[in-house]
Parts: sequence; C-alpha cells; structure tokens
Amino acid sequence: MKELAQIASAVQASSTMAIDALAKQMKAEGVDVVGFGAGEPDFNTPDHIKAAAVQAIDDNVTRYTPASGTVALKQAVCQRMKEDCGLDYKPSQVVVTSGAKHCVYIALRALVDPGDEVILPAPFWVSYLELIKMVGGVPVVVTAQESAGFKMTAEQLAAAITPRTKALILNNPSNPTGMVYSQEELAAIARVCVERDIYVISDEIYYGLLYDGVKSVSFASLGEDVKERTILINGVSKSYAMTGWRIGYLLSNEKIAKVMGNFLSHSTGSPSSVSQAASVAALNGPQDCVEEMRRAFEERRNYIVSRVNAIDGVSCIKPQGAFYIMMNMEKQLGRTLHGELIKTGDDFSAALLKHGLVATVPCSGFGAPSFVRWSYATNMENIKKGMDRLEEFLKG
Ligand code: PMP
Ligand code: GLU
Repeated sequence: MKELAQIASAVQASSTMAIDALAKQMKAEGVDVVGFGAGEPDFNTPDHIKAAAVQAIDDNVTRYTPASGTVALKQAVCQRMKEDCGLDYKPSQVVVTSGAKHCVYIALRALVDPGDEVILPAPFWVSYLELIKMVGGVPVVVTAQESAGFKMTAEQLAAAITPRTKALILNNPSNPTGMVYSQEELAAIARVCVERDIYVISDEIYYGLLYDGVKSVSFASLGEDVKERTILINGVSKSYAMTGWRIGYLLSNEKIAKVMGNFLSHSTGSPSSVSQAASVAALNGPQDCVEEMRRAFEERRNYIVSRVNAIDGVSCIKPQGAFYIMMNMEKQLGRTLHGELIKTGDDFSAALLKHGLVATVPCSGFGAPSFVRWSYATNMENIKKGMDRLEEFLKG
C-alpha cells in the first residue's frame, strides 16, 4: 500500500493525554497511583450549568447550530470579555469551537501557509508544537530560562523574527510553567508584533486562575492596533470545570473570524448544541463558582510549592497562575533511583510512576527536558500523598 500522509505520520501523540490515560488505566487495574498528569480540574461542573444542559435537551435543543456557534453563546462570550477583560467585541467577531485545543488549530489554519514560521516560546504546551506542524508551519522555538521566570523577552522575540514569520503563539498564564506576564512585559512584546507585522495567537484559557492578587491583562487590551492582529483564545474548560463539554472560543477581527467560521463549516459542522447551551449558563450565570475553585487552587499551589522546595535535590519557582508547577530535577540526572539510571526527565517520570506510583508529565515534550510538570488540579489529600511519595522515592 502507498505511504500515509507525511504530515499526519509525523504527529506525535500528546504526552499529557498519554500519561493521563496510563494513570487511569493503572487505577482501573487496582494500582494505587496518584495522578498529577493531565491539567484537568477535579471539581464537578457547577449544578446550574448542568441544569441548563438538561433543560436544553428537554427543550429539544438537539440540532445543528450555526457552524461558528449560536448567537446566544457569542453574545455571552462578548459580555464576559467586556466584564472580565474590558474588551469590546461584537458577536460577528466570535467563533465557537469544540474546545480550546481546536481553537489553536483553527487559528493556525486561518494564518499559516506551508513553510510559514510560527514563533513558540518554550517551555510550551505540548500541543502547540504538533499543531504548527499539522498545518505545515515551521515552529521557531524561543527558550525562556527558569532564571528569567520562564518568560520570553521582547528582545528574544525580535531576534527570532524573519521575513517568513507569520505569527507568535503566546500562552498567558502559561501551561506548563504557570508564569504570568506583567502588563509592561506584554506591552513590550506587543510593540515588536506591531512593528514587525506579525499576528498573535493569544491563548488565555487560564485567565481566571490567577493568584497573589495578580490581575489578568488580555493581550488584546493593549491597544487597537494590537487587538486587530490578535486572535484571542479562551473557553469554559478550565474556569468552569467543563473539560468534557468541549467548548472553546476565538475572538478576532471580522475578516479572520469569517475565514475561521468557513473552515469550521466544512470540518466540525457545529459544536455540540447542548454544550453551547450549558456554556451560555456558565458565562451569563453567577461567577462565584469560578472564585471558589480559584481559591482552592491557590491553597493547593501554596502547599505543593512549599513541599517541593523543602525536598532536597528538587525545586520549583512559585507560579502565579494556571494549575501547574515545573519541578527542576537537574540534580537527579545521573543518579540511579530504584535501580533505574536517570538520564532525562522522561526517565525520572517513568521511574516515579513505576516505583513511586505518582504520575507526572516529563517536560521534554514542552521544550524543557530537565523539568517535570505536576498539575495540582487534584485534591489536597492526593497532593499530600504525592509529595510524601516523591520524598520517599528520592531516597533511592
Ligand atoms: N490551551 C492550553 C494552554 C491548555 O492547557 C489546554 C488544556 N486542555 C487547552 C488550550 C485546551 O483546552 P480544551 O480542553 O478546551 O480543549
Ligand atoms: N491541557 C491539559 C494538559 O496540559 C489537558 C490535556 C491536554 O489537552 O493536553 O494536561
């Protein structure tokens, strides 16, 4: 038989999804594994959101919707963006997709032709790299060091731009580092993007999960010229504990929104009608559930950061957003733990899972090979257990 498509064959499976599936499988087999793999809130979707979905089913809201989403959901997105980020968008500038991951794909589809370069600051969420390759783009990775708070500078960005650069993917707050850019840092990056005429795909899915009183600054709020060239990504998955409902949304200028809507009309058809109705309730309804979950995450962050930094041979910086920490395990490289030689972060994560029964994600797929990501979107009891096990595991 003929070969499969080269682009598709080169796509790597998502390491976050793979670890999560493995941990779930081990659990199902009766192994007492503690999961810090996938970044997925452990909370249940709030009751008023679930009730709206049940109502939608009872009302027979079970048919196709417009390809780029219902008017009601687009209006709800505009209203939430206005209230939370001070941004003015019209429903015609909103495109609803089947999850924020799909938003990244659609945004890249709208901007990138084969051979175009897309700048990707590392550490990055694993899917960005593969998605750029999936549209035939060329990823240009710019590494932000731990000593720089994992933040790319405007100078680093400027140095990476070539005549083939089409776009930058910015993720703020960041998965996997949890770091948050300040308004000044964002403004400096935005200036480069405007001066050098590149688009920005700004994934702000964690914008509701900020700690230490930090306020969210949307990239699109930095000026009309910045907003014009920005495709903003957000969604209900993280803020409302709705990962399984699969709703994300894009906000952009009308021209880009139209192109993205056309693309969707031939690919997904439309996002789930029931999930869209639930998302309207999430965005228009009471927001105290978001704050309650945010507070719980902040408490967990404080605990996990202090535990990791109290353990000899590993460390992490204190992130101000999302629900991840990047554990630096450089000092473990070259050690033999439980009979396993630790040459990379991948070896470390594999050994920790096998001998410590703790699932983490090695950051080689995130462009940071001597780090291991822990998602603290799990309950305190599990976090305590996981930290105790890490401590034991490191004794060798
Ligand atoms: N962007 C980032 C940075 C993420 O961490 C995730 C994780 N799921 C997504 C997008 C995708 O979100 P969704 O579940 O809505 O597809
Ligand atoms: N984004 C989450 C993570 O990084 C969920 C899994 C995924 O979609 O990759 O773990």
